[in-house]
Amino acid sequence: MSDDQLPPCPECASDLTYESGGFLTCPMCAHEWTADAEDADAEPVTRDAVGNPLVDGDTVTIVKSLKVKGSGGGSLKIGTKVSGIRMIPDSGDGHDIEAKVAGFGEILLKSSVVKKA
Ligand SMILES: [Zn+2]
Repeated sequence: MSDDQLPPCPECASDLTYESGGFLTCPMCAHEWTADAEDADAEPVTRDAVGNPLVDGDTVTIVKSLKVKGSGGGSLKIGTKVSGIRMIPDSGDGHDIEAKVAGFGEILLKSSVVKKA
């Protein structure tokens, strides 16, 4: 293993970091940290209202009645089944699921208001 494969120091960006006793150490600023690459690379898991992990294609039910924005408007009632959900990157306001719902078309949902069916 070559030294230049180690990540640079997160404190001072020095690339002189070395591994020591399971830690990465920076000789420039004496910063020590762990190199747990597995955690850093882990895919973020989207979880439903009760903590079940959700994946693309799952069927969920709505646990909170929701107003749906869009041409028709209307609201989704508690217990509405939504199948074939798709995980999307958080849009910035908490919507992280995309799904097609009969009568509404394509809508965005928050994982916190659904439960895996
Ligand atoms: Zn440093």
